[in-house]
Amino acid sequence: MEENKCNAEGSSQCSGDCSSCSSAHKEQVDFTEKLNDKSHVKHVIGVVSGKGGVGKSMVAAMLAVLLNRKGYKVGIMDADITGPSIPKMFGINKRAVSTPDGVLPEETANGIKIMSINLLLDQPDAPVVWRGPVIGGAVKQFWTDVVWGDLDYMFIDMPPGTGDVPLTVYQSIPIDGVVIVTSPQDLVSLIVKKAYNMAVMMNIPVIGIVENMSYVKCPDCGIELNIFGESHISEICNELQVMVLGKMPIDPQLSSLCDDGKFERNNADYLFGAADLIESALS
Ligand code: ADP
Repeated sequence: MEENKCNAEGSSQCSGDCSSCSSAHKEQVDFTEKLNDKSHVKHVIGVVSGKGGVGKSMVAAMLAVLLNRKGYKVGIMDADITGPSIPKMFGINKRAVSTPDGVLPEETANGIKIMSINLLLDQPDAPVVWRGPVIGGAVKQFWTDVVWGDLDYMFIDMPPGTGDVPLTVYQSIPIDGVVIVTSPQDLVSLIVKKAYNMAVMMNIPVIGIVENMSYVKCPDCGIELNIFGESHISEICNELQVMVLGKMPIDPQLSSLCDDGKFERNNADYLFGAADLIESALS
């Protein structure tokens, strides 16, 4: 890690806790960790949400699959340490192999590289009962100690919320931009603005917002039902001046493919526009 000495350090202003420091001096401290020597990652995209369970992993996986289908080398870092779901979605249940160069990611059927805490635990169903700094340390090691090789795009399935662990990830990994995932209710309850404001505070560009669980399509008549209320994505994106990346319905085909570990077989087109946009914004 590059050490930049903070001017406030040692003065009466300094509490020793840079994360809560309001001094302009903290901007001089660079917490970015060094990527593993055997890896080269061109673009890093964080997939974030203001709270858990809104489909952040689903969107991270979908975008990774779409960029992989375009012919890019893609990886997914599952930084949702307490609720890892990426390996299961892709049917990966092996343990990651350690080498002198670092830990090797596992690969999906179509060659997406994956690293997740579930690939390192003896029992994948064991709860991760770790304090924030330990969880943050594990995510940092996914960056420093995993042999990702050459990647065009790395998607980080970020820890949910705006607490200690996402803060560590934002500070330690050079993220090029974030995709915010919300549900229609989050858009109303302003949870999405917390995720947006955190990215802005960390000086990370917001690529856009995906509204997940936006509606359900009736299999008989095709009518779209807004079971979580009317969509507000356009007005919020307008207000925040960010792109609408897409709306995903609750789609039983997607959840059953996740449950069966066959997510790469999905033929959903909901995020085609989002994948194109990421490709053109970060090429
Ligand atoms: P998060 O990463 O935000 O915690 P997940 O992506 O793990 O959320 O999604 C939570 C659950 O909801 C999972 O079981 C997932 O398969 C399901 N799910 C998410 N989005 C959809 C969707 N659009 N259609 C159907 N099921 C979904």
